[in-house]
Amino acid sequence: MTWTSWQISPFVTSMFFILGMLALYWLTFNGLSYLIRTRHLKISIDTANNWYGVIYMIVFVFGIQLLVIGNKDSWQFMNFQLTAMIFCAYFLNIRVPYYTFFPIVIVYMLFNESIGYWESWGQAITLALFFFTLNTIRTKFQDSRWVFAIYIAVGALFGGWLWCWMQLKFNLSWRSITLEWLYLMSFECLLYAYVSMLSQDSESKLQLAKFASHDALTQTENFAAYTGAVQALFTKSQHQHQPLSMMMFDIDHFKIFNDTYGHLAGDRVLQQVAMVVQTVINENDPAIKLYRTGGEEFNILFPGYTVADTQSVVTQIFLAINHQEILFGDHQLEISISVGVSDLTVSDATPLDFYNRVDKKLYQSKRNGRMQITY
Ligand code: GH3
Ligand code: MG
Ligand code: MG
Repeated sequence: MTWTSWQISPFVTSMFFILGMLALYWLTFNGLSYLIRTRHLKISIDTANNWYGVIYMIVFVFGIQLLVIGNKDSWQFMNFQLTAMIFCAYFLNIRVPYYTFFPIVIVYMLFNESIGYWESWGQAITLALFFFTLNTIRTKFQDSRWVFAIYIAVGALFGGWLWCWMQLKFNLSWRSITLEWLYLMSFECLLYAYVSMLSQDSESKLQLAKFASHDALTQTENFAAYTGAVQALFTKSQHQHQPLSMMMFDIDHFKIFNDTYGHLAGDRVLQQVAMVVQTVINENDPAIKLYRTGGEEFNILFPGYTVADTQSVVTQIFLAINHQEILFGDHQLEISISVGVSDLTVSDATPLDFYNRVDKKLYQSKRNGRMQITY
């Protein structure tokens, strides 16, 4: 294969080129989100995706155009550029206000030396309409079962329209225009398939991550999540000399519910307890996190709280649970909890030392007759 002789058809080469462009985007974006997560940068992954997507695609569009500026066939890369634009407008659903969109297009026309052609102005307006239509159909028809048909119909209409402008400007044959339009349709399908496949893949990863970190019965985070969180908070508190508190509670005589009314009654109690505690937390401070660490044992982490700071929330939880009456069939189940609370001390060498101290306080509550809090 040489510069003058390339045996693979332009269509096949283009398909691989587009796949390569998208794969490189995803690869570099994954690197960027890894940096954001590990460095704890204060930028959401969605915002980063939008900014990075726009910058990447602008560099791509201008970069490839640089190769053909001033040539008689400077339209050559239009399909690639349209694919990049569709990716931003439809798949990333980036909202570019018209007062930003037009300056970009005008800079592009200056760069491309096409600002003096009236056909290029027609093309620029069509492009803007295409962009905003893609934005709109993405939001309006996302859940429609015709979503693909709508996407491809809009792509076909505007793609055809844009290639007509090219015909006028470059006087291309209708055969070439039709062929380019069909290529564009194929790229749009490829783009759709590629992005759908990737988002399905990341959705199933998210689902798996949720299953791995949450308890299926109560929907609270589980022991594995607790272990990860306490380790991270322990390290952070030690480095930044910030307080960290932990509340542990265990339902009193829980076995009786199972033995008297059956296992389903026990499950019902656990669900309601988790729900009530979560409600109290949400009303106070979402930074406080609840975990189901054992059968009927729960753990709550209070980042930035001293024991004294926790008192109000701990009391609210304690009172809310002890006043709960849980309906199970015709029965009203009354429950109570025993609680232990402590904060991190300089003598704690590992999170386990911290955990053991809180656990001891909880069992002190049990030993002293249950339904009480030990600080
Ligand atoms: P104490 O006041 O000393 O804590 O007594 P208890 O009966 O609450 O404690 P014990 O450890 O004797 O019993 C806990 C029971 O919780 C035993 C176990 O079968 C039950 N359990 C654990 N997980 C679940 C669950 O997911 N659902 C139900 N229904 N029961 C569970
Ligand atoms: Mg118990
Ligand atoms: Mg227990």
